[in-house]
Amino acid sequence: MSFDRSAVIRPEVAALRAYHVEMPPGGIRAKLDANESPFALGDSMREELAAEMAKALADVELHRYPDPEARELRRLLARDLGVAPEQVLASNGSDEAIQLLAIAAGAPGAAVAAPIPTFVMYELTARALGLRFVGVPLSDQFDLDVGRFCEVLRAERPRLVFLAWPNNPTGRLYDAAAVEEIVRVGCGDGANALVVVDEAYFHYAGRTFFPRLGQYPNLVILRTLSKIGLAGIRLGVLVAGAAVVEEINKVRLPYNVNALSQAAARVVLRHPEVVSSHAAAIVRERDRVLARLREIPGVTTYPSQANFFLMRTARSGDDVFRGLLERGILVRNFSRAPYLANCHRVTVGTPEENDAFLAALSDVLGHGR
Ligand code: PMP
Repeated sequence: MSFDRSAVIRPEVAALRAYHVEMPPGGIRAKLDANESPFALGDSMREELAAEMAKALADVELHRYPDPEARELRRLLARDLGVAPEQVLASNGSDEAIQLLAIAAGAPGAAVAAPIPTFVMYELTARALGLRFVGVPLSDQFDLDVGRFCEVLRAERPRLVFLAWPNNPTGRLYDAAAVEEIVRVGCGDGANALVVVDEAYFHYAGRTFFPRLGQYPNLVILRTLSKIGLAGIRLGVLVAGAAVVEEINKVRLPYNVNALSQAAARVVLRHPEVVSSHAAAIVRERDRVLARLREIPGVTTYPSQANFFLMRTARSGDDVFRGLLERGILVRNFSRAPYLANCHRVTVGTPEENDAFLAALSDVLGHGR
């Protein structure tokens, strides 16, 4: 047999590296690597929610395909977000929404732009589809250079621009006026691009571009339930003008959000108070952990408006990562990524997990008590 894999797999796919997660050798004490919420919705404090969810899931007709349009779910989302259901597309995580945007907007060789460093899936998805990715470096404090960014928009004419707001992995919430300037330039003022404001961490930052949707027909907003306790159900939300949503919807697979996920999401959407109390607890913990880290020599932190933060260590990032891993603490190691030498992204966990992280880090850096 002489099957030649390289003759059928596209070279841009062969050049990609699959997403890989390290596992601590002795089990995980604190899982702080994936920006999930540490709180399980429906834990003992939330028995009512757990019971409601169990009932909703039990009622699902598993022998039937789910509603291909996810109508009830979209109606609830639209009501929540203050838009029309025609402006809402539900996706299998916002990762899928990113892919749908790239499929719908990207012609071979067309450009996709984003500030870097940012969420890796923008570049990965673009490259996998044969699009050109144009990364515009952030400042050394990870702020957006809006003048430079707009120059790139005018010169490269990307079809799609991604702005994670707050940004991942830096945690920074760019100035709203800077983001709006990019949306405006992309709206025919020098360029012609869909500008995607990815509000995955909205519940921690409390800022949104929703009020601008009526003003800018090229504005697309992404949300997700992954960061607020439902990472396992995979539900992302794309919101834009109805005309843009209609186009994106054409490349969506019909049953992209399964029946169990639709049912679980419907229950949780009826309990916004659970989501906001968990988010408030995480924000308090984030600020507590950041204050403690500022006292540890050899650690630099960056301000964050999300449920994670970026830290840079004077010591080798790989050594710090290994040391934490040996102590059962899993963070996301960015030490070798461009612009992020010796950096780690740490998700805010429960108070116990955060204390375990702080103690392990002090120990690894030789400041153990
Ligand atoms: N956007 C940003 C900025 C993210 O950080 C993430 C998750 N890491 C996502 C989108 C994807 O989230 P999901 O697919 O779980 O909805």
